[in-house]
Amino acid sequence: MRAHEAGVLHAEAGHRGPSWLRVPDDVNALYPGLWPAGAERGADGTLRVGGVGVGELAAEFGTPMYVVDEQDFRTRAAEFRDAFGAVLGGADVYYAGKAFLSVEVARWIADEGLCLDVCSGGELAVALRAEFPPERIGLHGNNKSSSELDRALAAGVGRIIVDSFDEIDRLAQLAGGHGVTARVLIRTKVGVEAHTHEYIATAHEDQKFGFSIAGGEVAEAVRRVLAAPALDLLGLHSHIGSQIYDTSGFEVAARRALDVQADVRDEHGVELPELDLGGGFGIAYTSQDDPSNPSDLAAGLAEIVAHECRGHGLAVPRLSVEPGRAIVGPSTCTVYEVGTVKTVELDGGASRRYVAVDGGMSDNIRTALYDADYSCTLASRASEAAPVLSRVVGKHCESGDVVVKDEFLPSDVAVGDLIAVPGTGAYCRSMANTYNHVPRPPVVVVRDGTARVIVRRETEDDLLALDVG
Ligand SMILES: *Cc1c(COP(=O)(O)O)cnc(C)c1O
Repeated sequence: MRAHEAGVLHAEAGHRGPSWLRVPDDVNALYPGLWPAGAERGADGTLRVGGVGVGELAAEFGTPMYVVDEQDFRTRAAEFRDAFGAVLGGADVYYAGKAFLSVEVARWIADEGLCLDVCSGGELAVALRAEFPPERIGLHGNNKSSSELDRALAAGVGRIIVDSFDEIDRLAQLAGGHGVTARVLIRTKVGVEAHTHEYIATAHEDQKFGFSIAGGEVAEAVRRVLAAPALDLLGLHSHIGSQIYDTSGFEVAARRALDVQADVRDEHGVELPELDLGGGFGIAYTSQDDPSNPSDLAAGLAEIVAHECRGHGLAVPRLSVEPGRAIVGPSTCTVYEVGTVKTVELDGGASRRYVAVDGGMSDNIRTALYDADYSCTLASRASEAAPVLSRVVGKHCESGDVVVKDEFLPSDVAVGDLIAVPGTGAYCRSMANTYNHVPRPPVVVVRDGTARVIVRRETEDDLLALDVG
């Protein structure tokens, strides 16, 4: 649910920010709910995460860098595991590795007892390098290659979420060749458009993922999978989008999926043992966001599923969910160094301050791609200066290279200061690119006052190594 706090703000002279953005009472305060649990301001005013000051981190590892609070990540993973483990006789939680995956993170997920979703051969390779138990891996993707399917079968992944008739045929043949039975779920378009940005809404009809219920494709996919001796049909899968704040979309998805499960029972005499409702649970990026917690989500989803099953006289299938962002997003912040500061005059006497940092759309594409909102703070010190409306931009050759569209930063922010952006654990490093030949930042893990690199900084030599001309 989003709180819109218009009014007071517009009384502030020159405030050209969005209506939800409040002039902070204390520009040094860390807005609650946006930061990793281990983030705080130290006695000297610097931001500390996991017991380490960002100044020390910057001195040791350079900027920009992603800073992950390991304890925060593990706590969020464990909260999902426990909340979903406690409903409907136990539901499985698959961490969506596409949000951010590295060998170390795959080990944390294994340690915490979660399952893992991958959606490419590359993500599968990371999981296998981490010796993640293959039976707890799910493989997604709308266009898995034969070689990706082959590797998944050879590794013994626990389930494959099939997405097209071509894939069903291909997988049946490959599994037969391996002499194994592949356990599959059918990706289902339930016809729900989650209330989120269009590019990340994935269950309405006119998009590439899954089989349509309305068009009878799901029924046909069920027939084909049941007819293939090398395929074992576990159930249906639905993922309705991302950055979703309430359970109403999941309610419609569960109802439509369970209607199909009831039809499958009536037509084929089989009760499908599993149901996956996907991920997409929202997190807070700014003060306008107010996400649910895992217990409320688990209770809400369990009630919806139990209710629908009662209505159809179906046994409750084993539920699974696939949170990515909600586990890794809030565990991480990005630390940048300020390189230039400019004030731009706007119409009507207002102005906007542009604070340019040493990264940008290469390490966080979400602002440019999804028009995402972020927040930030001056991290290398506290300031007594008045808050001014600022825009944090990167160093790339695009005017759309914005990291934080609108935030109040102290008026004395200067070259050499560090700026930290919270909520950058999901879809930032995993979507990072090398635009302008800017090497990708490292991922640094902090815990109990110590820091270590889990993904090193890319170098110009790394980039030039690919250039064989
Ligand atoms: C992206 C995706 C997820 C994870 O989404 P989040 O918003 O990170 O929770 C889960 N399942 C599927 C199939 C996805 O494509």
